[in-house]
Formats: sequence, C-alpha cells, structure tokens
Amino acid sequence: MKPQLLIACDFDGTVTRQDTLVEILDRYGDVCWREVQEKVVSGELSIRDGLQSEMGSVRATPEEMKSLLTEKVEVDPTFPGFLRSMRQRGIPLVCLSGGFDLCLEIVLSKAGLWPLPYLANRLIRNNGSWRVEFPYPSLNCQACGHCKGDPIRGWNEQGYLTVFVGNGVTDRCGARHAKLTFAKDELHTWAQAQGIASVRYETFDDVEEGLIRRGWL
Ligand SMILES: [Mg+2]
Ligand SMILES: [Zn+2]
Repeated sequence: MKPQLLIACDFDGTVTRQDTLVEILDRYGDVCWREVQEKVVSGELSIRDGLQSEMGSVRATPEEMKSLLTEKVEVDPTFPGFLRSMRQRGIPLVCLSGGFDLCLEIVLSKAGLWPLPYLANRLIRNNGSWRVEFPYPSLNCQACGHCKGDPIRGWNEQGYLTVFVGNGVTDRCGARHAKLTFAKDELHTWAQAQGIASVRYETFDDVEEGLIRRGWL
C-alpha cells in the first residue's frame, strides 16, 4: 500500500519565482528596509518585529498592491501541473507561507489556482497603513513568525508522511520535521551544513520524479 502523503509547500520563491515581500518593499517600503532585514537575519530583531516594521512603512493602497504583485510575481511554471497531479492522486497539498494571506490570494488568483489550502501571516489594512498579524503563534519555537515545524509535526502525528518543499530561512523548522524535504537555494545549503537530509530540486517535475523513484507515488 502506498503511504498517505501530504505535501507541505513554501510559497515565496518556491511556488513563485519572485518574493512577494521583496517586490512590495522595493516599490513601496521604506528605503532602509534591507537594513531592518539584516537585523532579522542576524537575530538582532525578531522575525515578527521585523515584518511589522517593514510592512508598517508601506503606503500602497490595496489596488496598488494588487497591480504590483499581478505584474511582477509569477508562479513557477511546473507548479500547476504538480498540483493537478497531486489532486488526481488524492494527495493533499498545503501552502505554508512565512508571508501574507493577501499576497497568496493575489498571485494564485492570477494563475487560476485560488483558492488553495494555506497557513500564512495576516495583512490588515488599518487607517491607510498595513498591520501584520500572526495567527499561528508557536509554543515550541521562538525563532519563526509562523513556525512551519508545528503543522508538520501535527500531520506526522496524524499518520501522514509529510513531504516538505522549500527554499529559504523560514523553511528550516519545516525541513527539520518533515519525513522528506526537497530543498533549493539557501535552504539546501543550510540543510547540508546542518547534516539534515534533503533532496536538491529545481522544479516541481523533480519533486514528482523524486517521489515516484521512492515508490511514494
Ligand atoms: Mg521561500
Ligand atoms: Zn520555527
């Protein structure tokens, strides 16, 4: 019998080719946003405080946000076929995003893939500015804004064989807890340095082939 798989998938830089937050901040954020980001990477500032500070400086209207992301951010061309294949096989796919609900909705709507099950941070319009909410606080992890390790542990406990696909800093806890991780970019470098098993991938075709090769599909 095939194992009951569940695919947990990062959003920015994994489902998409560009990073929605980078596009928003480059166009509408404070000119110093990269300095804030450096403090987050070095640990001087928490991910939560960093995101709040970065987004708090953004003055774009919802319409401007929508047209920017629609114009600049594309879905990886191999993702729609992968999603279709997983659905045909009855395998759930959930997006775990360290970014924002609104960004997922805009980008996936344009690609004809909305709605999709997801967990993400929340972006709220408040008196002409943007406020960030973190609806999934973690009891186990202080490092993440939205820890991807928590839902993956939960799915594992429910008997799913959880496969994680990711590329960045907010994917580390996901990679630690998934039964199998496909990684690229910074996540792959980090996983190798940490001795955490991960399979290098470039496209979702590689992910599907990797699962077939293991007899999991
Ligand atoms: Mg990413
Ligand atoms: Zn975490």
